[in-house]
Amino acid sequence: MQSNWKEDKANVHKSELDLRVYTSRLLGQDKSLVLHGGGNTSVKLTEKNILGEEEQVLYVKGSGWDLETIAAEGFAPVRLEHLKKLAQLPELTDPEMVNQLVTHQTRAVAPVPSVEAILHAILPYPYVDHTHADAIVSITNTADGEKRIREIYGDTMVVIPYVMPGFDLARLCGERFAAEAGANTIGMVLLNHGIFTFGQNAKESYERMIEQVGRAEDYLKQHKAWDAAPAALPASHGIELAREQAKLRADIAKAAGFPVIVARHANDKSLSFANRADIATIAQQGPATPDHVIRTKRLPMLGRDVAAYVKEYKEYFTAQEAQAKERKTMLDAAPRVVLDNELGLCAVGKSAQDASIVADIYDHTMDIILRATALGGYRALPAKDIFDVEYWDLEQAKLRKGGKSLPFSGEVALVTGAASGIGKACVESLLARGAAVVALDLDAKVTTIKNGANFLGLQCDLNSEEQFKQALVQAVEKFGGLDMLVLNAGIFPGGCRIDSLKTEEWQKVMRINLDANLMLMRECHPLLKLAPRGGRVVVIGSKNVPAPGPGAAAYSASKAALNQLARVAALEWGADNIRINSLHPNAVFDTGLWTPEVLAARAKHYGLTVDEYKTNNVLKTEVTSRDVAELTAEMCGSLFAKTTGAQVPVDGGNDRVI
Ligand code: ZN
Repeated sequence: MQSNWKEDKANVHKSELDLRVYTSRLLGQDKSLVLHGGGNTSVKLTEKNILGEEEQVLYVKGSGWDLETIAAEGFAPVRLEHLKKLAQLPELTDPEMVNQLVTHQTRAVAPVPSVEAILHAILPYPYVDHTHADAIVSITNTADGEKRIREIYGDTMVVIPYVMPGFDLARLCGERFAAEAGANTIGMVLLNHGIFTFGQNAKESYERMIEQVGRAEDYLKQHKAWDAAPAALPASHGIELAREQAKLRADIAKAAGFPVIVARHANDKSLSFANRADIATIAQQGPATPDHVIRTKRLPMLGRDVAAYVKEYKEYFTAQEAQAKERKTMLDAAPRVVLDNELGLCAVGKSAQDASIVADIYDHTMDIILRATALGGYRALPAKDIFDVEYWDLEQAKLRKGGKSLPFSGEVALVTGAASGIGKACVESLLARGAAVVALDLDAKVTTIKNGANFLGLQCDLNSEEQFKQALVQAVEKFGGLDMLVLNAGIFPGGCRIDSLKTEEWQKVMRINLDANLMLMRECHPLLKLAPRGGRVVVIGSKNVPAPGPGAAAYSASKAALNQLARVAALEWGADNIRINSLHPNAVFDTGLWTPEVLAARAKHYGLTVDEYKTNNVLKTEVTSRDVAELTAEMCGSLFAKTTGAQVPVDGGNDRVI
């Protein structure tokens, strides 16, 4: 384990708080130390208040902030003296503790302080760093973890038995620290939880963390418990297995009560882990550190029997809730981690971002379990302790920070012809509503039009059934299924009258505008049928369907045939709870096709100005790609929940259509 402290980078930071931010980020950047909101850090500073009086202030990580990206305003400034007095109380309820922490800050606009604020306050060092280092929990989650920790650290670390985080842990640490700390003490190990280090300055506290975790890593290496090279297992990636994954997602969403992303990770590590002979033992002990439970649930699901998982979760809840101090309401019973011998690891979340957090956590959990197994056996905390954290209101508050979920969160949309124009605008409208979006286009630039966990751009020739199936497999592996399909890709060849229309030209237009969409609909149907809220298809048609013009026979005929195909699909697929609606745009000029020169030429041709030409409709309004995209997204939403087989113009009003 290497220190990432760089003198030149550190020297840029003038204040103690800025240095605190610097080393907190160094910790956060190392995922073997902390993952997604885990861990916390603090610094104690002396400041003058508005009366000119000096007071000591504990700057401690605010709840909801991530060490990797924390900024100065992510630290909550709490009056230190008050915290030390609170630590002397015989007891303190959680709501009162939070109330005390919030009301004794020196800045009104500050995050809620970490639930470990009192613990940070009582440790007599300016800097305190806390992580859930993989190496530490690998060793402490074993039968003789405490003995091993004492063997590694001697009198440099105070050892704290497991107690739930919060006031009780602060009190226990205070007592143990008073009794056991000596001249050599530089930190504490919290069994089954993590490690603290302290220092006089940011560098000392940070580098002690690196050194001490490094000692645990060395211990694992010496005991041949470090490298567990996974067996290379061939993963299958076919359309059949993708459909199985979509079925799994449908079952999980049903159990959860909301749509979910199910991301498959079929790498060697996950596959060989899921295929271990002892998987039913090692993967059914519990999380590596308790706060993972709010992301991963206590246990992964082995195989694909969601009903059995739900039954066991309900039994766990009922048994544990009976022993809890207060009554609890059961959270959804759906799994968040699935280990399957064919699929490997599947991570479940309300969004692709949530699912990737789950995958990260379980990726580290597998390492921890394998290392502890090599030391003699992985042994997590009893179910009761995990339940207490899972149903602790202060932990659940972390998840609520995400805010209200968006209308399409947990759902997956596929858009064709997505690199530009209406297709690209559809990608944006769907992403804005929380959907995970798969964007396909012949143009390779589709892969870079957006980034982020919710986006997958794939170059794909829709004339190739093989290419499309591969894209579909990739889409399902990444997000778990398909809920919405936007058929947008199409071509508009140059004007040509029937008497000179070549057969090849006609066939080319039909192939792209019609045949490819039939293939897409057919291949997507088994997935759309499994959509938790019902499948939705939106066909981007054309004003030319109800009102064709001369010189566009192939285009108009292809769109009219597509329109008829969609109407038949509405009839056939209603029984599968799939809605299919069409919209007919006209004169959408903000696309790549319409350069200013072309626009000017066309306007001149009709004896109009460009503005008159753009708004040459009943409402005298310009129709943009975004207008079409927003209507497309709404057609997938609840407003159109009871509509199928509809055709809606989006053209500013056209007298021939009306
Ligand atoms: Zn912790």
